[in-house]
Amino acid sequence: MKTIPMLDLRQEYEHMKTDIDLAVQRCFDHQHWIFGPEVRAFENAFANYLGVKHCIGVSSGTEALVLALRAQAILRTGKEYFTPDDQIITTPFTFTATGDAIIRSGATPVFVDIDEQTFNIDTQEVAAYIAEHGSRVAGILPVHLFGQAADMSNLMAIARENGSFVLEDVAQACGADRCGIKTGSIGDAGAFSFFPSKNLGCCGDGGMVSTCDDATAELVRMLLKHGGRDKYNVVHIGYNARIDTLQAGILLAKLPHLDGFNERRRQIAGLYSEGLQDLTAAGLTVPAVDPETYHIYHQYTVRTPRRDALKTCLSEQGVESMVYYPFPLHEMEVFKGRMVTQGALPKAKKAAAEVLSLPIEPLQHEDDTRRVTHAIRNFFKS
Ligand SMILES: *Cc1c(COP(=O)(O)O)cnc(C)c1O
Repeated sequence: MKTIPMLDLRQEYEHMKTDIDLAVQRCFDHQHWIFGPEVRAFENAFANYLGVKHCIGVSSGTEALVLALRAQAILRTGKEYFTPDDQIITTPFTFTATGDAIIRSGATPVFVDIDEQTFNIDTQEVAAYIAEHGSRVAGILPVHLFGQAADMSNLMAIARENGSFVLEDVAQACGADRCGIKTGSIGDAGAFSFFPSKNLGCCGDGGMVSTCDDATAELVRMLLKHGGRDKYNVVHIGYNARIDTLQAGILLAKLPHLDGFNERRRQIAGLYSEGLQDLTAAGLTVPAVDPETYHIYHQYTVRTPRRDALKTCLSEQGVESMVYYPFPLHEMEVFKGRMVTQGALPKAKKAAAEVLSLPIEPLQHEDDTRRVTHAIRNFFKS
């Protein structure tokens, strides 16, 4: 019995082999490994895709977050880093990097609870925190989790009223939108990841900062190459966080495939939901889609109190599945003494205990999608 994987990067490579091989060969021909022509070409193509003024390629999604936050610190405080008195509100139900980046920028992460339907940050919790502690809140960092946009219109309104910035964590939502506006083009800046398993992935690490603000763009460009316009005469405490020419070339070749692959993910998600939605009474919840969003299913994530048993049962039938994420950030050692939490965050905790993500390889055959659906149905029938 063939195992159904979460993703099949080899199959995706075979699908676009001609484009990728050509892009790689071009780089070997010109040998401009650092800031080669593909870097600016990809930045421009991606800015055009998103509808933003600036895109700045960086070495990973994590560095995209850190650099965007450092730029905000410099712009807003005139200092290199935020201080622990500066707070940034985010979700506890995300990848560690979201919260880590806040600490690395010098600020304190404030974790507020999530919306149970979408797993995204709960706007009302954000509003409640700001109503009481608004003067401390420098920014809001929503994550478009699993490929579905957070409630950006309300978050932007709350942020604007409080004079806070909004940085979008778009690592899982490349190509998603809200009311027709692409994620990563709504806030003051966006941070993308091109980690191989993301919807647009490279062959190693890579990331991007998107923004319409000239000052933010200029600062990020300085920070990613040691902190100066001139590498040998530096202004800010910087990083070596460039994107490789090779990765930019590969991403440039893969970008035209992104929308089609996102559509395929949506079709697979549609089949799953159709085949599973009547299991609600048995204890399985399929993803809820906010009608204002174009969900691109970086993950197709169901929830059930019998999560661990379901995972074991699927594995026995050759179906891979993954838990994103088993621990909310506020329960991790690294955030102890370095965070503020608004209450006990019960919804995030419950989600971490109940979620399970299913295989959603864009090139996955319909028969495989049905096999996964059958395996789950059988589990809940027994
Ligand atoms: C993947 C991811 C990141 C980090 O991106 P890297 O490129 O791996 O550094 C940040 N936030 C979220 C939500 C992610 O899924």
